[in-house]
Amino acid sequence: GLPRGESPEESGSGAIRKVARVQLETAAALELDYAIPEKLEKSVRVGTRLTVPLQQQRVTAVVLEILDSPEGNTRLKEILSVVGSRPMFTSGLLRLANWISEYYVVPVNRVLRTMLPQAVREKPETFLTDSHLKLAKEPSPEIFDKLHQTAPMQARILEKLRSHGGEATLSELRRELPRATTIIKPLIKAGWITRSEIRVERDPFQTEEFLPSQPLKLTEEQQAAYDTLIKTLGVMFAAEASPAGGEEPKPSTLLLHGVTGSGKTEVYLQAIAEVLKQGKTALVLVPEISLTPQTIERFKARFSERKDAIAVLHSHLSDGERHDEWFKIHEGRAQIVIGARSAIFAPLENLGLIIVDEEHEPSYKQEDAPRYHARDVAVVRGRIEKCPVLLGSATPSLESFQNATTGKYQLLTMTKRTDGKSMPLIRIVDMRMERRKGTEVSFANTGILSQKLRTAITDRLTKKEQTILFLNRRGFNTSLSCVSCGETVQCQECAIPMTLHKKDNRLVCHICGARRVPPTKCPACKEPGLKYSGFGTERVEQAVKEVFPQARIARVDTDTMQRKNQLRDTLKEFRAQKLDILIGTQMIAKGLDFPNVTLVGVLNADTALNIPDFRAAERTFQLLVQVAGRAGRGEVKGEVFVQTHAPHSPAIQFSRHNDFDGYALQELEHRIAFKYPPFSHVVLISARGKHEAQAEFALQTLHKRLENDLPEGCIMGEPAPAPLAKAHGHHRFQLLLRSEKIRALCAHIRKVIAGLSLPQDIYITWDVDPMNV
Ligand code: ADP
Ligand code: ZN
Repeated sequence: GLPRGESPEESGSGAIRKVARVQLETAAALELDYAIPEKLEKSVRVGTRLTVPLQQQRVTAVVLEILDSPEGNTRLKEILSVVGSRPMFTSGLLRLANWISEYYVVPVNRVLRTMLPQAVREKPETFLTDSHLKLAKEPSPEIFDKLHQTAPMQARILEKLRSHGGEATLSELRRELPRATTIIKPLIKAGWITRSEIRVERDPFQTEEFLPSQPLKLTEEQQAAYDTLIKTLGVMFAAEASPAGGEEPKPSTLLLHGVTGSGKTEVYLQAIAEVLKQGKTALVLVPEISLTPQTIERFKARFSERKDAIAVLHSHLSDGERHDEWFKIHEGRAQIVIGARSAIFAPLENLGLIIVDEEHEPSYKQEDAPRYHARDVAVVRGRIEKCPVLLGSATPSLESFQNATTGKYQLLTMTKRTDGKSMPLIRIVDMRMERRKGTEVSFANTGILSQKLRTAITDRLTKKEQTILFLNRRGFNTSLSCVSCGETVQCQECAIPMTLHKKDNRLVCHICGARRVPPTKCPACKEPGLKYSGFGTERVEQAVKEVFPQARIARVDTDTMQRKNQLRDTLKEFRAQKLDILIGTQMIAKGLDFPNVTLVGVLNADTALNIPDFRAAERTFQLLVQVAGRAGRGEVKGEVFVQTHAPHSPAIQFSRHNDFDGYALQELEHRIAFKYPPFSHVVLISARGKHEAQAEFALQTLHKRLENDLPEGCIMGEPAPAPLAKAHGHHRFQLLLRSEKIRALCAHIRKVIAGLSLPQDIYITWDVDPMNV
């Protein structure tokens, strides 16, 4: 059983007190019971945060359950105080926390911790305040005269207030009269002005104006998708209104598979409008990288008639802004939440619809514990809150596609762009041929820009059309190796090749960020012949500048976009056609709409294909389709050049025809043959430590224990070095388990890990449904 309460201490009079069963927010997960003192009876509810005594300390806790009387005859300690004015967790979120805890095998307190933003957890309800000052009565001219002589500053304050229509905030006054705080005191005392405290919201969009937008007339395909969605909403809301009607409504998840530009966002907007009309709320998840001002603007503009209607949650907010946005939701003022991954925990009540845009995005997966996948958590939250969940993508994940194929999800398809344009032409450039040609002695003709792509760029420059060059790697050269012994200069901590960043002439490790001056001699054989190879965005920029000296070029990657608003400014310039060529990484692959871009070059389509991950091909396909979607959005048809050394790989061939179904069927066959997701669930167990042998041994031990009573149908691999065999100075080993029955497998893992004792600096982690293996 669970430990119940602390010591048999007296808890007041003999009257039977209600009991709160709480989860402590301490490092170790612990459920305990505490008596509710009479004075707190009204405020302690399920989901309330509290402080309670634990040994000699006070710790915070969350109420999971209220019991009418203590279980057993232990006397319980009393709750000390309540945190916040209302329960910080809805009962739906508590159930969700439980599910996450079970499914991902993490202690529930860790999940609860993740659900609240740090500022909300640590300093709840610390709002900025201001004083609202109001002129209480109109001073006569005589009084003004007198004041001007005896207290000129006071007279100025009164005049200021008058000129502001009789009211102003203290901070407004202080902008002009820095000493206003002191000066107003006698005026308040004498009854000339009244003062009241108001809350000031830290609003990330305070200074922005949003021009209202009207719903567009839906295309036939949009209308069909919209109708199905609304019908599902109707069925679910009706079932909720009359629960006596028998069974619970079925979970309703819909997959909207719509090509880029087919108008998915418009469908979202109109569906949300309908949800709000029914008095319910909506939650929209988008990948962090697509949470651009442009996206937020589209939502703000559509629902501009209600101030506060939209709360935004993402990682670029300040702590204060995040705190205030969260409370805007918590207090029921926001009906729509748009946010990145962790916004799935937004404390919305009365949820009517959850939308997950770009549902295939790997960034929905959290990399540290709890390693949850926000899309999957969204589906579960929908089930708990009895609201439909709409997943949208131009390139659905195979998991979701399979669920739609088998009828677990409803499939909605949109195949046409709203502007009626056809997809851009995709040309595959075989870089192996390009190498062989190699007659031209040119800086750029070293496998960076093919002859065909160069011709195409020249053509765009003459026509004053724009070009995007995409490359998944930043830096100048991606490796430095010795011509005599073949040794590559690696990061000592991470054992991967270091990338040259030419601007500051440093080798940089892209895993841990370590930097060093490039050596002039081979670190292994001491010979001087070191040679750079591989290219990143920095090198591409230089090459493009050399080949097209007259072109206006900008590079967008995390190196160049350090300054706040730099990305926004660069994109604005590009949109205004002040730039001809944009070179960039993922940052430019998504959600951007540039009508004058008629050419996109994918410089090395193989980087994603070559990662040792069963999703490598899926990633490549998704990336190519996404990038291609950037070309030809305007009047002129677009063209895409894909440079590759593997021109016949299915991911490249199917993306060329934008043939998602063809691709998915082919890939699913492969997955079923090797029992990979969606035909199984994967659990990745990793061991890491400073000492290679110890880490490996720990994982081998774990492997042996897991082998005992391994649930039926479970496939377990052998411990092997991780693809990133060393990172941050730690050696890493991994073990892959697969099973159709994930719950049985996780229960087994939980049991084995609980009984495991590890040497001090060995860390074991486990990731259920990992996105990187
Ligand atoms: P997706 O999210 O599927 O890529 P968007 O929703 O961004 O597509 O729509 C692409 C473009 O089409 C946008 O400029 C949008 O304003 C426009 N659009 C969407 N729906 C319609 C419609 N029904 N009629 C005309 N234009 C539309
Ligand atoms: Zn490193």
